Amino acid sequence: MKSNDRVTTSKADSSAAVSQVSPSILPANNLELVESWGRASQGISHVYRPTTVDGLKDLFQLARETGSHVGLRGGGNSYGDAAMNDEHILIDLRRMNRILAWDPKSGVVTMEPGVTLAQLWQYTLEDGWWPPVVTGTMATTIGGCAGLNVHGKNAWQVGPIGDHITSFELLLASGELISCDRGNNSDLFHAAIGGFGVLGCFTSVTMQMKPVYSGLLEVQTESRANLAEMFSYFEENLESSDYIVGWIDAFASGTSLGRGDVHKANYLPQGADPYPNQTMRLDYQHLPDTILGLVPKSIIWMFMRPFMNNLGTRMVNTAKYNAGRLGGPKVGRQPHAAFHFLLDYVPNWKQAYGRGGLIQYQPFIPKENAQDAFADILKLCQQRGLPNYLTVFKRHRPDDFLMTHGMDGYSMAMDFRITDRNRSRVVSLTQELDEIVLAAKGRFYFAKDSTLHRETTELYLGQDATEKFRALKKQYDPDNLLQSNLWRRLFS
Ligand SMILES: Cc1cc2nc3c(=O)[nH]c(=O)nc-3n(C[C@H](O)[C@H](O)[C@H](O)COP(=O)(O)OP(=O)(O)OC[C@H]3O[C@@H](n4cnc5c(N)ncnc54)[C@H](O)[C@@H]3O)c2cc1C
Repeated sequence: MKSNDRVTTSKADSSAAVSQVSPSILPANNLELVESWGRASQGISHVYRPTTVDGLKDLFQLARETGSHVGLRGGGNSYGDAAMNDEHILIDLRRMNRILAWDPKSGVVTMEPGVTLAQLWQYTLEDGWWPPVVTGTMATTIGGCAGLNVHGKNAWQVGPIGDHITSFELLLASGELISCDRGNNSDLFHAAIGGFGVLGCFTSVTMQMKPVYSGLLEVQTESRANLAEMFSYFEENLESSDYIVGWIDAFASGTSLGRGDVHKANYLPQGADPYPNQTMRLDYQHLPDTILGLVPKSIIWMFMRPFMNNLGTRMVNTAKYNAGRLGGPKVGRQPHAAFHFLLDYVPNWKQAYGRGGLIQYQPFIPKENAQDAFADILKLCQQRGLPNYLTVFKRHRPDDFLMTHGMDGYSMAMDFRITDRNRSRVVSLTQELDEIVLAAKGRFYFAKDSTLHRETTELYLGQDATEKFRALKKQYDPDNLLQSNLWRRLFS
């Protein structure tokens, strides 16, 4: 199956797909339409939602008996096809969502895989603990976060989430439950984290949380006039910051190429917050239901929709950038939830992208090559008439997970709107961008990918890593029971 097929599958195609589901004795009443988070690809799967490990084992057995494959899905927040398994069994793990053990003294938590980041921080914050790594939405599950080894706005400081997972239980395709940590089944530990759900299913994950002394962060926002300034800000502030994230106006060109805003945040030291008991309470962290106290958040995406074209987004970006410049740097205190989960302020914002949805492209480039490569990428998107609508810039560090996207470098996450008219042009553009990334010794990230090819994947991961991963797959899942659209597209 070619990568483009994933992006080009339309809703209209998928109703036809119901009748094409391979003949099996799987009951038809579990058939559901499943979308990538970005809604640019859809498929039909037999979806099951177990609540226990025994229930999971039964589904593995069902797959064997019916000649089906099993895909694993957490919150379904991967932009592409990592959590999709068209025409086969897809296990949605969100009902396995109990916190199994919590020690407020040590900050060690053990969770079922369907526990969301929202559940987790809401459970631990009043005891003075925050997840060491969080994604831009709190709807992700701990199983999905481990499955793709997610990173946060502090990735260069603390690495990906896998660096904080101390152990996990993995249900293998055989039905055997195996415990893994850094000393015990270490190969599997380092491959299943980031192993996109094809080596086994996490049934419990143990993680060390981060102590905090306030529900607030000290946040500073300022604008940067171009890409060079963006890079120098990051390099100068890395040591003194806990979090930094950049927003880039991908429409700006010439001497303003790469202009945007940077947001830096630091934890408050012990004693700096006079009312920590209040600020760490849930009601203090609650994201408001209305914007400006008037407009319900649930309908904001409708107001965004008319601007989701090149002209509209150019105008919005220019206004946002100029607003950021007005009055210079801004400093203030913000609740953790408000700083981290900005995207959750506007529920369903992806619907503003329209029927075709969006894809994200997030290359990671070593720091020596990043500025030139990102400049080339931004320019090429503009030349092709496909500037991306949301661009987020982060700093990373290397880690020791087999299928890692981490490196001593930068990433730039770019959202492309997909329409019937631009679909194939966007896919061709991503192939041109792949060349720039590979030439700069860069990497890609399965959580965001929809368009990579097998050859590109092998080139960036390297032959050693790919072969080692395939060997582990053969050892722990010789019959290829665990699969996904992404696995078939890039590995099988
Ligand atoms: C608005 C938004 C912001 C985001 N921000 C960030 C960010 O800041 N940083 C970042 O790194 N990513 C980010 N992402 C991507 C997202 O965090 C990842 O795709 C994450 O893996 C999604 O978690 P999920 O629970 O939704 O998992 P899913 O998308 O459902 O699944 C992810 C992968 O994990 C596997 N999996 C799921 N459960 C299990 C299990 N129990 N055992 C084994 N494998 C399993 C699946 O097969 C799949 O391959 C963002 C996504 C969105 C939509």
